[in-house]
Amino acid sequence: MQKGNIGITTENIFPVIKKFLYSDHEIFLREVVANAVDATQKLKTLSAKGEFKGELGDLTVRVKLDKEAGTLTFSDRGIGMDAEEIDKYINQIAFSGATEFLDKYKDDANAIIGHFGLGFYSTFMVSKQVEIVTRSYKEGAQAVRWTCDGTPSYEILETEKEERGTDIILHIDDDCKQFLEKGEILRLLGKYCRFLPIPIACGKKTEWKDGKQVDTEEDNIVNVVDPLWMKQPTSLKEEEYKKFYHNLYPTNDDPLFWIHLNVDFPFHLTGVLYFPKIKSNLDVRRNQIQLYCNQVYVTDQVENIVPDFLTLLHGVIDSPDIPLNVSRSYLQSDANVKKISSYITKKVSDRLNQIFKHDRKDFEEKWDNLKLFIHYGMLAETDFYDRAKDFALLKDTEGKYFTYEEYKQLITENQTDKNGQLIYLYATNLEEQYSYIETARNKGYSVLLMDGQLDTPLVQMLEQKFEKSSFLRVDGNTINKLIQKEDAETTKLSADEKENICEAFSAVLPKIEKTEIQITTEAMGEDASPVVITQSEYMRRMKESARFQPGMSFAEDMP
Ligand code: ADP
Repeated sequence: MQKGNIGITTENIFPVIKKFLYSDHEIFLREVVANAVDATQKLKTLSAKGEFKGELGDLTVRVKLDKEAGTLTFSDRGIGMDAEEIDKYINQIAFSGATEFLDKYKDDANAIIGHFGLGFYSTFMVSKQVEIVTRSYKEGAQAVRWTCDGTPSYEILETEKEERGTDIILHIDDDCKQFLEKGEILRLLGKYCRFLPIPIACGKKTEWKDGKQVDTEEDNIVNVVDPLWMKQPTSLKEEEYKKFYHNLYPTNDDPLFWIHLNVDFPFHLTGVLYFPKIKSNLDVRRNQIQLYCNQVYVTDQVENIVPDFLTLLHGVIDSPDIPLNVSRSYLQSDANVKKISSYITKKVSDRLNQIFKHDRKDFEEKWDNLKLFIHYGMLAETDFYDRAKDFALLKDTEGKYFTYEEYKQLITENQTDKNGQLIYLYATNLEEQYSYIETARNKGYSVLLMDGQLDTPLVQMLEQKFEKSSFLRVDGNTINKLIQKEDAETTKLSADEKENICEAFSAVLPKIEKTEIQITTEAMGEDASPVVITQSEYMRRMKESARFQPGMSFAEDMP
C-alpha cells in the first residue's frame, strides 16, 4: 500500500472546485466519459501499430448506476494504468491541472468555453469519494485501486481486476443525488456524449411485456459513433443531411440547404451548417449551433467563434483547433479563431453564390427565407457585403426579383431627380401604401418592396454604398421630387374645406409631433385617396433606426 499527498499546494482544493463551478457540476460526466473514450482510442491505435497484440474485444464504455450504494461507475476497456502511471497522470498531472485552472480563472471561470478540459478532478464537484480501479493493457500488469476522499491525501492499493481497463467509481455526494437518477444521467449522456466515437452503454434497452416495461438483453447505446459531419460529403445523400438535421432539431421543418465544412489546413474543422426555414420571426434564435471538439460536446454558445450573423444558423462545428481552455474574450483575438471565422463566412457566401448561379429560380424561391441572414451579414461584415452584393436580391412590389446591378439598369433611364440622382422608390407595406404604389406604377416607375425586419438599416446602408442614389419611400413627403406634380389630379376643394378636413384628421390622429406628419388633400392619381397623411422620411427613419442596434437579440426584439 502507498499513501501520499497529491501534487497540489492548496490545503484542500475540492471545496474550492465545488463552490467555484457550482452551476455546472454536470460537466464532470463529459470529462470522465471523454477520458474513457481516449483510453480506448489509445488502445486501438496501439493495436493498429502492432504494439498491442491482444484481442480488442468489446470496447463499449459502460455507465452504471447503483442507487443503493450511492455510486456512479464508468468502465472502459482501454489502456488502463499501472501504479506508476496513476502517480504520474492522476496524482501529478490531473491535480496540477486543477491548481493551474484555479489560479488562472479564479475570477471568471464561467467565461471559459464550456469549462472544457477541466479533467478528472471535476469528479470531486459531485463526489465525496472517488475510486479508480485499473489494470494496464501491458502483459502481467498488476491491477491497482486508488482512492481519495476529497482531501489532498490519497491511497493506492494492489487489487484484483480481471479485465484490462479502468473503472472510475464516484461515491456521489449527498447534495448531488440527482446524478443517481437514470433519467438525469441519460439526459446528460445525450447532451455531452451523443456523438463520441466509441459506443457508450447505459443500462439495457427496454421493451413492453404484459403492460410493463422490462429490460432486454441488448445494451442501451446512447451515442452515434460516426456522426454525419465526420463523413465524406461525397458519400452522403440529401436524405441523410435532412435526417441528421431532424435528429438535432426534431420540431423544425426541413432546412433550406446546408454546407458541409471539411478542412484540414491551415486548421482542422468539420461540421455541417444548415439554413433553417423560418416560419415566424419567433423561430429566429441565436445559438442553435453546437460546438464539438473531436466529437465531444463543448457548448452551444458559439459567439466569438463563428461570425455574429452566422449564429443564426443551425448545425454542428467540430474543431480541435479552437482553444477551449481560455476565456471568451481571449477567443476573439486568437489567430485560428479569426481564420476559422473568415473561412466559414467565405464558405457560406460561396454556397449562396453557387445556388444563385446554378438555379436562380430556386434561389428566388428561398429568398424571403434567406434574406434575414444575408442582410444581417451584409450589415454586420463588410467582407460579407462584398461577397453578397452580387447575389443579394431586391424584390419589387409586383414580386419580381433583381440583383442590385439589374435593378440599377432598370431605373437608370427614368428614375432620376433633377440633380441626376438615381431614385429607388420603395414601399414598406403593400396594403397601406397601395394607392401610392399604384400612382408611381402608373407613371412608369418601379417600386421596391422593403418590408423585411432589417430593411430600414439596409436601405440606409445601400444609400451609402450605391453612388449618386437615394431611397425614397413612396408615401414620403419627398416623393414629389420624382413624381411630377403637374401630372397629378388635384382635388377641387376650397381653402376652407381643406383646412376643415385637415383639422378633423389631426384631431383623431395619435398625439405626435406636428413636424412628423403632413396632412394634405392633394390626390395623386385616379385611384388615390382624397386625404394623404405623410410622415417625414427623416423622422420615420430616425425612429426605425433606433430599433436596429448592432448586436441586437433577435429572439427578444422580434415582434
Ligand atoms: P486530460 O484528459 O486532459 O489529460 P485528466 O485530468 O482528465 O486530463 O486526466 C489525466 C490523465 O489521467 C489522462 O491524461 C490519462 O492519462 C489518465 N486517465 C484518466 N482517465 C483514464 C482512463 N479511464 N483510462 C486511462 N487513463 C486515464
